[in-house]
Amino acid sequence: MVKVLVASRIHEKGIGILRENNIDVYIVEEPREEDLAELIKGYHGLIVRSKPLVTRKVIESADKLMVIARAGVGVDNIDVEAAKSKGIDVITVPEATTTSVAELTIGLMIAVARKISFCDREMRKGVWPKKQAEGFELNGKILGIIGAGRIGSAVAKIAKHGLNMQIVYYSSTRKPSLEKELGARYLPLDDLLRTADVVSIHVPLNSETRHMINEEKLKLMKKSAILINTSRGGIVDTNALVKALQEGWIAGAGLDVYEEEPLPKDHPLTKLENVVLTSHIGASTHEAQERAGIQVAEKLVQYFKAKKLLQ
Ligand code: NAD
Repeated sequence: MVKVLVASRIHEKGIGILRENNIDVYIVEEPREEDLAELIKGYHGLIVRSKPLVTRKVIESADKLMVIARAGVGVDNIDVEAAKSKGIDVITVPEATTTSVAELTIGLMIAVARKISFCDREMRKGVWPKKQAEGFELNGKILGIIGAGRIGSAVAKIAKHGLNMQIVYYSSTRKPSLEKELGARYLPLDDLLRTADVVSIHVPLNSETRHMINEEKLKLMKKSAILINTSRGGIVDTNALVKALQEGWIAGAGLDVYEEEPLPKDHPLTKLENVVLTSHIGASTHEAQERAGIQVAEKLVQYFKAKKLLQ
C-alpha cells in the first residue's frame, strides 16, 4: 500500500482524495527536524506547506520516499538538491495560491499608503488620528514589480485595472504579454527602484535572490516610496530595511514574510508606525487552501499511478 505522510495541515478534501485512492495517510502537524527524520521511514510520499523544514538529514533518513509534494509554491523549506541526489521528486501546485497572495499584496499597498493600521491602533487608544494619518493615492502612481511570474503578474493586473497604476517590472525574463496587455515597461532593477512609488517583491527565495534588496538597493528608492514583500523574508536584508524605515530612506513597508518566522516579539519592525505587518497569511484563505489541498492530492495520485503503484 502506498503511504503518504502529511506533515502540515492540508484541506480535508485533499485527505479524502488520497484515501479514496487507497493511499494510507498519516497526519502530523509540522514536526521538528529530528521527529520528521524518524517519522519519514516507510513513507513513499511527503506533503508539506511552507513548513516543516525538509532538510538533508530528513531526506537521508528516508528509506522509501519517492516524492515530496508542496501544497502551494516556494520550495525554500525543502533541500531540493539533497532530494535530487537521492532521486526523490519535488512537486508543487503553484497556481493554487496566486489570487490570494495577489489580493493580500494589494491590501498591504493600500494599508501602508493610507496608514490604516496606524489609525486602527490609535483609535483603540482613544485617539482620533487625522492630520498624522495623511496618506497618498495609488491612482496613477508607478508600481514596480520585482519578479513578474504568476503572483507578480496578477498583482500588476489588479493594480492596472483596479487602481489605474502604471506598471514597471524587473524579472529574469521579459514578459511580452504584460507589456502588451498592461503597457508594462521592463526596467533593470536599479532603474525600477529609482522610478517606482510602490515596489512589490515576487521573486522566489534562492541563493541568487537572498538579500537582493539590501542597504544599497534601499538607498536607490524614492523617499516617498513604499516596499511590499509577500514573497519570502530572506529576499530583503531586514537590518537594512529597519534602518531605511527608521531613517526615512523610504516612507513605509508592508510585510507578510520575515527572515525569522514567527517574527520575534519586540523585533524593531514592531516598533515602527510606518510598517504594516501580517503573519505569513498570503495563502491563508479558504479558497487557496481548498485548491492547494485538492490539487496536491490529485497530483500525488497521478504521480503514483504513473509509477504503477496505484491503479
Ligand atoms: P513564479 O515562479 O511564477 O514567479 C517568480 C518570478 O520571478 C518569475 O517570473 C521568475 O522569472 C522571476 N525570477 C526568479 N528569479 C529571479 C531573479 N534572480 N531575478 C529576477 N527575477 C527572477 O512564482 P509565483 O507563483 O509568482 O510565486 C512567487 C513567490 O511568492 C514564491 O516563490 C513564494 O516564495 C512566494 N509566495 C508567498 C506566499 C505567502 O504566503 N506570502 C504564498 C505563495 C507564494
